[in-house]
Amino acid sequence: MKNELTCDRIVSQCCLKAQAYGLVLFGRSFSHRLISFFTENSSVADYYKDNVFKTTGIVAQIETGATKNKKIKIKTSAERTQLLEYFGHSKSELVLRINRANINEDCCFAAFIRGAFIACGSVTSPDKNYHLEFVVPYLRLCNDLITVLEEMNLNPKHTQRSGYHVVYFKDSENIEDLLTNMGAPESSLKLMGIKMQKSMRNKVNRKINFELANISKTVEAAGKQVSAIEYIDKHMGLNKLSKPLYDVAVLRLENPELSLSDLGKLLNPPISRSGVNHRLDRIVRTAEEARE
Ligand SMILES: [Zn+2]
Repeated sequence: MKNELTCDRIVSQCCLKAQAYGLVLFGRSFSHRLISFFTENSSVADYYKDNVFKTTGIVAQIETGATKNKKIKIKTSAERTQLLEYFGHSKSELVLRINRANINEDCCFAAFIRGAFIACGSVTSPDKNYHLEFVVPYLRLCNDLITVLEEMNLNPKHTQRSGYHVVYFKDSENIEDLLTNMGAPESSLKLMGIKMQKSMRNKVNRKINFELANISKTVEAAGKQVSAIEYIDKHMGLNKLSKPLYDVAVLRLENPELSLSDLGKLLNPPISRSGVNHRLDRIVRTAEEARE
C-alpha cells in the first residue's frame, strides 16, 4: 500500500508542502539535533528524500545499514535549522506540535495525512481485523493529529503502547475513507472486496444456521409424534386409529427423520405436506386426550 501511496502523482504546490511536512514531522526525529527517518522500503526512502528536496532544496542522506533498514538523515546542523524554519518551527521549541500554517487549504489535509501515514502509519491485513494506525512519540503531537483527522470527518481512537501514542481506526468505513482520501483507492477497493467476501460468508453461515434450526425443529416435532404413536400403540392399539391416521402413524414410526412432505410422498395415494401435518396433529391430540 505504501508503494501505491508513494507513486508519482500530480500534487499542487500547497499540497506538496503539506505532504512533505507530514513526512518529516512524523518521521523518527524532528528537532535541530536530529532529523531522521527509518524505513525498510526503498521507494519510501526515495520518496522522503524527493519530498524534502522538492520543498526545501535540502538533499537528505540515505544510509543502508547492515540490516535492510534504510536510515535517512539531514546531515548538517545548518540544513536542519533551515528545514525547521521552512516549516515554521524553531530550534528552541520544547513541545512538538503541528504547525497548522503548513496545512493551508482544504486540499492539503489529505496530502498532510498521506505524508504522516507514510512516515508512521501502518495497516494490517483485513483478512484478520481491520486496523489502521499512526504511531506517534509525543502526546501533544498525537492530539493534534487526532484533531486533524476529526476535521476530515473521521473518528480516530487513541491508546498507548510501550511509551508511544497510537492513533488508530478499527472500523472498515473509516479506513476505506481514509485510504481513498490519502490517494490509495486501489488498497481501499481491495479492502472493500475482502469485506464483501466476508459479508457473503456471514450470509452463507446465517443460511446454514437457519437450516440447522429448521432441522432441529423437525426432529423435535418428529420426537413428539413418535412418542404419541408409541403411547397409542401401548395403551389403545394402533388399529383403533382410522385408516388414514394409522397409515401415517406406521410410516412415521418407520421414518422418524423424514420431513412432512417426504412422508406425504410415501403414502398411497400421496398427500400434501399440510395433509400429513393435519393427520399427525390429530394423532398427537389423540394421545394427549388418552393421557388425561
Ligand atoms: Zn493543497
